[in-house]
Amino acid sequence: MVHMNSNEIKEELNRKGIKNTKAKSILLHILKNSHAPKDVSTLYEACSKITSVNLATIYRSLRQFNEKNIVQEFLSSDGVAQYEYIHQGAKSHPHFECESCRQVFCLGELQFDDALHFSNMAKKHKVNYINITLTGLCETCQETAQT
Ligand SMILES: [Zn+2]
Ligand SMILES: [Zn+2]
Repeated sequence: MVHMNSNEIKEELNRKGIKNTKAKSILLHILKNSHAPKDVSTLYEACSKITSVNLATIYRSLRQFNEKNIVQEFLSSDGVAQYEYIHQGAKSHPHFECESCRQVFCLGELQFDDALHFSNMAKKHKVNYINITLTGLCETCQETAQT
């Protein structure tokens, strides 16, 4: 059983104007405690271990979380949507995606100068979020390739 601070989760959903259901609070809890982006099937599996939930509910909840800026959504190179909780005051950070095992890793936050540089590249477009994904072989897959 996952330890949950259900009051905190409930308040957060409330603040964002989202109706609190068991599935949504569990989903939010899982997202908040993930250290890397997760795809829908991984989130569905994790939620299913705790409560009975259907896939459509997970999709709907993730869309709602994304609309309310609770999570950010981005596509991995094979077109699979990944979701990551937006921590309060967190700055954009790039991701690294392994071409072999498809794992996605969070990299360090962009520094002010980096963010400024990319914002300037957008010229007169208004930048809301910077989404950078580097691809290649992760450490584990490099070792596997060598042996
Ligand atoms: Zn890998
Ligand atoms: Zn990340």
